[in-house]
Amino acid sequence: MKFSTKAIHAGQEPEPTTGAIMTPIFQTSTYVQEGLHKHKGYEYARTQNPTRTALEECLAALENAKYALSFGSGLAAEGNIMNLLSSGDHVVCGDDVYGGTYRLFEKVWKRYGISFDFVDASDASKVAKAIKPETRLVWLETPTNPLLRLCDIKAVADVVKNDKTAKIKPALVVDNTFASPYLQNPLDMGADIVVHSVTKYLGGHSDVVGGAVMCNRDDLYETLKYHQNAVGAVPGPFDCFLVLRGIKTLAVRMEAHQKNAMAVAQYLEKHPLVEKVMYPGLPSHPHHELAKKQMRGFGGMVSFVIKGGEEGARQFLGTTKLFSLAESLGGVESLMCHPVSMTHGSIPKEERDARGVVDALIRLSVGIEDQDDLIKDLETGLAKVKLLAEAK
Ligand SMILES: *Cc1c(COP(=O)(O)O)cnc(C)c1O
Repeated sequence: MKFSTKAIHAGQEPEPTTGAIMTPIFQTSTYVQEGLHKHKGYEYARTQNPTRTALEECLAALENAKYALSFGSGLAAEGNIMNLLSSGDHVVCGDDVYGGTYRLFEKVWKRYGISFDFVDASDASKVAKAIKPETRLVWLETPTNPLLRLCDIKAVADVVKNDKTAKIKPALVVDNTFASPYLQNPLDMGADIVVHSVTKYLGGHSDVVGGAVMCNRDDLYETLKYHQNAVGAVPGPFDCFLVLRGIKTLAVRMEAHQKNAMAVAQYLEKHPLVEKVMYPGLPSHPHHELAKKQMRGFGGMVSFVIKGGEEGARQFLGTTKLFSLAESLGGVESLMCHPVSMTHGSIPKEERDARGVVDALIRLSVGIEDQDDLIKDLETGLAKVKLLAEAK
C-alpha cells in the first residue's frame, strides 16, 4: 500500500460487533475475563487498549516499521528510549535539538549517571569522533528545531555501523517530528529507532499531545515495550482516537503545508527587513542538496532572522493575525514563535548564541490557510515594525 492509503486504513478494520467504520474509543480501564487467564488479549488498559493498538499499527505502517509504541507525549516517548540505558552509559546527541529534549537529557537523565556529548551532527565525522566505549545511543533530529539544518541520516548510520570504539553497537535514534513520515523514513536509511511528537504533524490539529516510537529490531522492541508498560506513560484512548483521525489527512496536509511554506520563504527572502531565511527548499539553504536527496519534500517550517536584533523581534511578534504567537507546530493553523524566549528558554544564552539560536530568530509553522492571506498577514505585520522601517 502507498502512503495515503496506509494513513487511512492501516491498523483499522470495521468494528466487528456493529460494523462501525471508525475505531471506537475504548474508554475502559480493565477487561472481563471468562475464566482464569481466559481473555481476548486484553487484561488491563495500561498494558493494552484496542484504540491504542489501532494507532500503533497505523504509526508502524507510516514509518515502514515492524513495530510502533505510543505514549502520552513526545517527551514520554523519548523517556521510553532512554529507559534502554543504564548508569554509566553515554549518548552522542546533535547540538540543535528540541529544547525539551536538551532539558530531558541535561536536567533529568544526567542525574541518573548518563553522560551526553552534543555535536554538530550535520557533519557525520564529528559524530564518529564523539563515540566512546560507553556510547549506547546516537541521537539526531533532522531537520532541526529551530534552525532547520539537516543531518545526513545515511552517513551517520554508516558511522554507527562501522564504529569500532563502542563496546556495544550504539543504536541510532532519529527524531522525525519536523519532517513527518510523509517526507522522510529514517528506518529505511539505516536508523534503529524513530521517535515522534505526534502532537505536531501526525495529530495535525493542535488538539492532542502524544508521542510515538517506531523500530524494526525485535531486541529493541521487547525492551521498549516492557518499559511502556512498566513505566506507564501511555496515551488515553481518546487521545489515540484523535491522532488516528488526524493521520487520515496527513498526506494532503503536508502537501498544503509545504506549498505555503515555500511561498512564505520566498516572500521573506526578498523582504528588506529580513536578514536571513532558513528553509531547506531554498537554494540558499546550506543543506538544500541533501534535502532534495533525503526528503520527499521540504516541510512546513520556516525560520528567519529579522533585522534589528532582539528589539526587531519584539516589535514584530504579536503584529500578525493569522500567525498566532504560540508554542508548538504542525497544526492546520499558522503559528509563530520566538525560540529564545519560548521553546528554547531552557538552553543557556551562550550555548544558544553559539548554535545560532539568536535573539532575532523567529520560527514559523506555516499552516494550510490560503497562501495569499498568509503572505498579506506577514506583510501587514512587518509594515508595523517602526524601528526597522527607519533602518530600511
Ligand atoms: C514537540 C517536540 C518534542 C516533544 O514532544 P511533546 O509532545 O511536546 O512532548 C520532541 N521533539 C520535537 C522535534 C518536537 O518538536
